Amino acid sequence: MFTATRAAAAAAAAPWGARVPCGRRLRSTVPLSTSTDDRSGGRGPARSRSPSTISVDFTETRGAYKSKDSLELLRSLVVLKLCSYDVMVEKNQEIMDLGKTILGQKAFDQLLKMTFYGQFVAGEDQNAIKPLIEKNRAFGVGSVLDYSVEEDIGSSKQKETNSCASAAGKHSLGEDHREKESEELFVSGQGGWNAARTYSHPDEAKCDQHMETFIKCIKASGGSSIEGFSAIKMTALGRPQLLLQYSEVLMKWQRFFTFLASQQGKDGMEAVEQRLELTQLQDFLTKVGAKGDFHGWFTGKQESTGLIDILDWKSLLDDRENASDLLVVPNLELGELEPLFKKFRTDEEKEMKRIMQRLDVLAKHAVENGVRLMVDAEQTYLQPAISKLTVDLQRLQNREKPVIFNTYQCYLKEAYDSMTADVQLSKREGWHFAAKLVRGAYMDQERERAAEIGYEDPINPDYEATSRMYHRCLDYLLDEIALNRRARVMVASHNEDTVKHTLRRMNTLGLLPRENLVYFGQLLGMCDQISFPLGQAGFAVYKYVPYGPVSEVMPYLSRRAQENRGFMKGVQKERELLWKELKRRLASGELLHRPLY
Ligand SMILES: Cc1cc2nc3c(=O)[nH]c(=O)nc-3n(C[C@H](O)[C@H](O)[C@H](O)COP(=O)(O)OP(=O)(O)OC[C@H]3O[C@@H](n4cnc5c(N)ncnc54)[C@H](O)[C@@H]3O)c2cc1C
Repeated sequence: MFTATRAAAAAAAAPWGARVPCGRRLRSTVPLSTSTDDRSGGRGPARSRSPSTISVDFTETRGAYKSKDSLELLRSLVVLKLCSYDVMVEKNQEIMDLGKTILGQKAFDQLLKMTFYGQFVAGEDQNAIKPLIEKNRAFGVGSVLDYSVEEDIGSSKQKETNSCASAAGKHSLGEDHREKESEELFVSGQGGWNAARTYSHPDEAKCDQHMETFIKCIKASGGSSIEGFSAIKMTALGRPQLLLQYSEVLMKWQRFFTFLASQQGKDGMEAVEQRLELTQLQDFLTKVGAKGDFHGWFTGKQESTGLIDILDWKSLLDDRENASDLLVVPNLELGELEPLFKKFRTDEEKEMKRIMQRLDVLAKHAVENGVRLMVDAEQTYLQPAISKLTVDLQRLQNREKPVIFNTYQCYLKEAYDSMTADVQLSKREGWHFAAKLVRGAYMDQERERAAEIGYEDPINPDYEATSRMYHRCLDYLLDEIALNRRARVMVASHNEDTVKHTLRRMNTLGLLPRENLVYFGQLLGMCDQISFPLGQAGFAVYKYVPYGPVSEVMPYLSRRAQENRGFMKGVQKERELLWKELKRRLASGELLHRPLY
């Protein structure tokens, strides 16, 4: 059994140096059984140590809310209840405008601070957030600092461009849409987890400003914890339109591989298992009339084995300059030959380099400050570029230890293939794979867009399929971690079943909390009943901690209201637990409880 002493020792060893508050009693009353699917889950070969019995009780309210006074509990109850009203979610902008008119800006800001802002945002700047970060740390919960100043572009009606469509698969292999692109980009919508934080059309100076903001955030993170995290968004560091173009190229290249693999009868195999036979590949391309020096290009890469897998295939694109000259393929719709993709213009290549330079600067600051960088995942039509740039950064920075974390969205049908390919690449090249696993936040927007433009919905058909995908990816990573103890994963979810599943798998695989190979993540103001018991039991758990001036985090708050409505089951349970604790305090005379740390 996981005893208080072990828990305290483990918490003391937590990466952010968590201290266990004096006199705290740790209880782990509900052992987590190891289900059959846990034993058979994953890839199999991971060393399965004798199952230990680490368990966490997610219903015990005293420990879960020990870091909160009763007023804070009451605020949580009120705010979470308000989030359950449709009118609050759908008309929050109008309600806020009305509030401002009636109360005036100052009083309205104060009201927000006492309610929504106080619940979901840590403070206005890096100094204001320190007390909260220290308190959470004292109770076993670390922080992922997330500077959340946003541009509310979600409220403006976005227009779609043809170019967006091709990123998701509508057009033929060789088609390029730059000519058709307008200055408008489908960059936000209804339902992102903080979609409003996508920066629209930042010019270079603005991207540099964002970089400076992230540097401040990294420094604040370094100053407030031993091994903290800072979150960044790629759309803040480069023009979304460019990320979109790059994503198109990457998607086409990936689809071309899948197409060629199916020509060679390799359908139905996992993407990382598919290998193209070079001779067959070249015969095929010659037969369909492809032109260019692709023979030399392919064989230059893979002389010895005569086979080319998805990792080799992707690496061919690293030389973007030449790649477009090397392969001219028939457009099956138009019956014409055309480059598989057009070269980036010189100015676009320069912009791409500037993004990489900004990322380099951030990574260097992260290393200097002992902070890890978490790159958030965004919309599918930008995500291939975001993920590729992140992997390129990981290749450079994750040699010694995991500094850069990517994000995989398990609501995507292709999540498993993308993630496993990157794990295999990290092993082949000898760097530390590190990632945050999320279900994904842009579902409504993605579906709306797919339906509007007429391409296949990239999202799994239902919630159950997303959860299966999440657990499949998670099991794969946990097995990988158990095998070589180099990779890292953050289980970023409010879902209690997913968290319990992770704990069971960790038990089965002998992954100890104090090893800090598996992290948990929840958003500030949500699911404390999961975060705090985990932290107090010695698991590495982090809150995403947004901060920024009141007026500028409004779009973020609006997202929180929407998102809370999305997990009704979880929120309902949270409200019940909050009530339970308030009633317990009332009955035991502890209503004036002050967190001691
Ligand atoms: C620490 C942290 C970091 C995050 N970072 C990111 C990020 O970088 N990028 C990002 O996109 N999101 C991010 N999110 C948000 C995340 O993707 C989810 O939106 C959110 O956490 C809800 O998922 P859940 O597992 O917590 O809860 P659950 O209630 O178990 O799952 C809800 C999720 O299931 C999926 N889903 C619901 N209905 C369906 C359906 N009908 N069909 C298919 N799928 C469905 C959706 O993804 C939905 O958000 C982050 C969340 C956390 C906690």
